[in-house]
Amino acid sequence: MAQAYDHGGGVRSIRVPIPDNPLGHTLVHVLDTDAGPILIDTGWDDPASWTTLTEGLTARGTSVAEIHGVVVTHHHPDHHGLSGRVRESSGAWIAMHPADTAVVRRTREAPPERWFSYMAGKLTAAGAPESHVAPLRKAPGHRTLPGLTPALPDREIVPGELLDLPGRRLRAVWTPGHTPGHVCLHLDEEHPGRLPGNGRLFSGDHLLPGITPHIGLYEDPDDTTLTDPLGDYLDSLERVGRLAPAEILPAHQHPFTDAPARVADLLAHHAARLTGLLALLTTPLTPWQLAERMTWNRPWPAIPHSSRTIAVSEAESHLRRLVKLGRAEAVPGSDPVTYVAV
Ligand SMILES: [Zn+2]
Ligand SMILES: [Zn+2]
Repeated sequence: MAQAYDHGGGVRSIRVPIPDNPLGHTLVHVLDTDAGPILIDTGWDDPASWTTLTEGLTARGTSVAEIHGVVVTHHHPDHHGLSGRVRESSGAWIAMHPADTAVVRRTREAPPERWFSYMAGKLTAAGAPESHVAPLRKAPGHRTLPGLTPALPDREIVPGELLDLPGRRLRAVWTPGHTPGHVCLHLDEEHPGRLPGNGRLFSGDHLLPGITPHIGLYEDPDDTTLTDPLGDYLDSLERVGRLAPAEILPAHQHPFTDAPARVADLLAHHAARLTGLLALLTTPLTPWQLAERMTWNRPWPAIPHSSRTIAVSEAESHLRRLVKLGRAEAVPGSDPVTYVAV
C-alpha cells in the first residue's frame, strides 16, 4: 500500500522505501505546478521503490507519465536513483546543482578501478591498516552494479533564482556540506495552514529532525583543492536558520517546524564534537587513529568495513575544520600524516 500524504497547498509526499537501509524510506515530494506536477527527489532505484512511487502518484490522481520535471536535492542514490526512470516514463527534465552533476558525470565516466585505487591511496595516507585497504584493491566492480548508474541531469539549478515553474515560487538555496552541490528548495509562498514563518523548505538531507547527516570529504580523484566540507555545512546550516521557514519537509523521517532551533542543536553538536576531538589530539594521531577514538553509534570493533571508511572521512572533515580554525595542525614530516592540537 503506497503511503502518500497531502501537506496542503499542492504539496504531497510519498514514502518510497530504501531496501535494506536503517533510514527506511525517502520522502519524495510532489509539487503541483500549472505545467504538471514535479518531484523533489525520486528515491532508490529498486523495483519495490518504483512500484511505491508510481502507486503513490496514482493514488493521488496523477500518473508518472504526467511528471513535468524532477528537482534533485543531491546526487545520492536514495534521492536521485529513480530520476532516470521517471524521465524515461514521462519526458520530464532533471535538474541538479552543477557541483553534484560533476560527481554524477565522474561516476558514469571513470572506470571503477580508478575509484578503488584512489580510495586505497587516500586510506593508506590517512593511516588505515593494510587489512582495511586490501579488500578495496581486490574488489573493483562494486560501483557498476546494474541499476546504479546515475542519470545525467539535463538542467542546471541556479541558486537564488526562481525555478521555471508556472504558478509556483520555488527557489534553490545552495547548502553544500553533505555533498558539494546539495540544495534545499524554498517554496516562497504562504504556508497553507498559516503557520508563522517564511514559506516551506524542502531540506533534502541537509536538515533532518533527528539525524545528523554524514559530513565527510568531497572525494574527488581529479580535485586537489583542500575543501572544508564541515565548514561549508555549518555555514549552510546558518543560511537555512536565517531563512526561518514555517515548516521543513525533509527527505527522511518527518516534517517539522522551528528550523532555527534545529540549526542551533546541530551547531552545538558539532561544536561539542570539535572540542572533544581537540582533547583527543593532545597526542598526535592519524585520521584513522582519531576515528578509532571518536564516539560512534557502536564500538569501533563492531563497525563494519564500509562504515569505517565513512567514519575516517568524517574524522578527516573534522580535522580539516580544526586546521582551518588554527586549532590543530599536521605534524611536519609525519607519514602517514598525524595531527596535533595547537
Ligand atoms: Zn545524502
Ligand atoms: Zn538521504
